[in-house]
Amino acid sequence: MTPKNFYDLTLKELQTYIVECGLPRFRANQIYRWVYGSGITDFTQMTDISRTLHPKLQEILTFNLPKVVWHKQSQIDGTQKILLEVNDPEGEQQTVEAVLIPSENRLTLCVSSEVGCNMACKFCYTGKQKLKRRLTVSQIVGQYIAAQKVLPEGQRISNIVFMGMGEPLDNPDNVFRSIEVFHEPSGFNLSRKKITVSTSGLVDLIPLVTKSKTRLAVSLNGSNDAVRSYIMPINKKWPIAELMKACKEHADETGDSVTLEYVLLKGVTDSIEDARELHRLTCNLPCKINIIPFNEHPGSGFTRPGEEAIRAFQNELIRLGSHVL
Ligand code: SF4
Repeated sequence: MTPKNFYDLTLKELQTYIVECGLPRFRANQIYRWVYGSGITDFTQMTDISRTLHPKLQEILTFNLPKVVWHKQSQIDGTQKILLEVNDPEGEQQTVEAVLIPSENRLTLCVSSEVGCNMACKFCYTGKQKLKRRLTVSQIVGQYIAAQKVLPEGQRISNIVFMGMGEPLDNPDNVFRSIEVFHEPSGFNLSRKKITVSTSGLVDLIPLVTKSKTRLAVSLNGSNDAVRSYIMPINKKWPIAELMKACKEHADETGDSVTLEYVLLKGVTDSIEDARELHRLTCNLPCKINIIPFNEHPGSGFTRPGEEAIRAFQNELIRLGSHVL
């Protein structure tokens, strides 16, 4: 029998697997607690698991996590980047990034869901690389474990956002299964409301976010179809009106507001008229707008607006009554 990687399994999946392997279901709960509660992966150290079971467990379970390549902390804003190697079946070395973002009362981990991305958003560096692979549950959960390890004793990640490399709804099975691990009380025990799934606008899959009871963020970035289709090809398939309808349905069903990300690109999305149009578009949706001045990178073809234009855009939205983050 080929062993399964423990970190690829939700608690329910581990229970099913353990029973299939001829062991009682409660052993799954014990192992889950040891691994996620105490960080112990050596069966011989799991004191409530009989020695006679160790060979069988070693035969059916492995513990494989992505390797940390490096970890760097920014001296400017305190964010910490962790680069992880994700093994590829064809042997190509691939890496993904997880970012720890401290703020006043929370410590957020931004996780990746894919290597590369097929959504091809024009302003995005990842979007320049075609999708190379969708991450497994262990590679998503592994980002959390690696990030937790670089934190000082006693500090804990409080929030998770699926906003790193990749479109989470292009890898829904593994993303929502990893959310089960993050949420599981004997896993990481994070409230579903502390987990945010950010999409570029795969409208037909937004109900999966609603069903998972996590929070929804949408990378909006344009206040009309012409601009949005120009910078985000997904808009040609799912135009703004359908996207906003899906956001409204999510908000109505969950009672949560939706976070709308809006990247400011000089001369493309940053005019005062854009701000007014953005307000008109979103004023009937319970939402918060996160203005993100463009982070320039070579070959993007876009530039970041000046500080004055950024402030003017924000102020106009605030003046009109939008909730700006
Ligand atoms: Fe980049 Fe996200 Fe667009 Fe993919 S969906 S290209 S990761 S912005």
